[in-house]
Amino acid sequence: MNHRAAPVTDPSCWLPFTANRDFLSKPRLLSHAKGMYYQTPDGRPILDGTAGLWCVNAGHCRTEIVEAISRQAGEMDFAPTFQMGHPLVFQLAQRLTQKMPASLNHVFFTNSGSESADTALKIARAYHYGRGEQQRSLFVGREKAYHGVGFGGLSVGGLPRNKAAFGPLLQNELLPHTLDQEHHRFTRGIPAWGEDPAEALNQIVQKHGAERIAAVIVEPVAGSAGVIVPPKNYLQQLRKACDQNGLLLIFDEVITGFGRLGTPFAANFFDVTPDILTTAKGLTNAAVPMGAVFVSDSIYQSFMNNAEAGIEFFHGYTYSGHPLACAAALATLDLHEKEGLLTRGSELAPYFEDALHSLKELPLVTDIRNVGMMGAIELQSQPEHIGARGMAALQKAFDSGLLIRTTGDIIALSPPLIISKEEINMTVKIIRETILSLS
Ligand code: PMP
Repeated sequence: MNHRAAPVTDPSCWLPFTANRDFLSKPRLLSHAKGMYYQTPDGRPILDGTAGLWCVNAGHCRTEIVEAISRQAGEMDFAPTFQMGHPLVFQLAQRLTQKMPASLNHVFFTNSGSESADTALKIARAYHYGRGEQQRSLFVGREKAYHGVGFGGLSVGGLPRNKAAFGPLLQNELLPHTLDQEHHRFTRGIPAWGEDPAEALNQIVQKHGAERIAAVIVEPVAGSAGVIVPPKNYLQQLRKACDQNGLLLIFDEVITGFGRLGTPFAANFFDVTPDILTTAKGLTNAAVPMGAVFVSDSIYQSFMNNAEAGIEFFHGYTYSGHPLACAAALATLDLHEKEGLLTRGSELAPYFEDALHSLKELPLVTDIRNVGMMGAIELQSQPEHIGARGMAALQKAFDSGLLIRTTGDIIALSPPLIISKEEINMTVKIIRETILSLS
């Protein structure tokens, strides 16, 4: 059967986070990809302004990664990692932990960002449990945060629409995330001042008692909410407040990991080390699904020291450390090293920032935000049709040959880190024309 025959779209396929009925009336299909470009089934090039979904950091279909996956698929397709192991998973863990801030030197493999979030929350609870602090079950997240769609990540996430249809979730509290646009509007990079997380955390601590809280989880830069950059010292203050109250700090680096900010991780960029750090996406350049949760030595040792346990942590996925994903991740790390991709963003970021902010004077543009190689352009919403302008922009940009991500009426950009200045110019040119075409 020829799988590349004329594309069929029909309701047998239920697409995630998609208005499926609308989609079927005008499907947007991608069939090939190479470097900075996708291609539609009819051969139209689409410049990738979002690295797929914030994940193809080294560009598409890199030969080294394709070959590594293919080789591995022929050598050993799958091996369990429950009570078993294989060489690649150990090799990958070593390579990865060498890249981490020094204290994060153990890694637990998952298959996605959602699984990484849920795994991190379970590690936090089990850590306290193992130390005799069973009452520490509450989590603190942040308004507008996205930590995936598992019940754990959903509970600590702060996007109301994502939670609305699912009834009671894990007990949690959210730190306020007031994006004070009057003061932050059109800020380049990190806002000089803003909300104080310590004060908000202290209020939550007073309400529930520190001894009932397991951990605080944040995206260092909120991605899915539309690139919300924390004000100066926010993460430092949060780290301090967590330490003062004996709370674990979890960074969700599913987007910010692997070079997005021009440093290997946001932990390096902000110079703040969490106790647990979650990743996915760029880890394998998205060629094979994989996530990873990094934990501090003291957390790992406390599990290992648990005298009663044979199995120290009753958790794992059939595909944890999948050989194909390991092969893809190792080839991705090689590429990162060879091409300096984990820091290339720092050279490009000023150019990217100038390019984005050149859109400032356009009609309908109410804010532009950026840090590293992440950026967002916020459009004025139509009061009766929130998100309609965003959708129109997505369609128009796609028709003009550019893939963007929109959330509500916010255009988000996170191009592959191999992007050239000419391609940044082209991205911004198409966005300019797109915005000018909107009513
Ligand atoms: N955390 C963050 C910060 C994310 O941006 C995402 C996905 N965009 C996730 C978790 C969930 O990842 P996945 O879709 O791979 O489950």
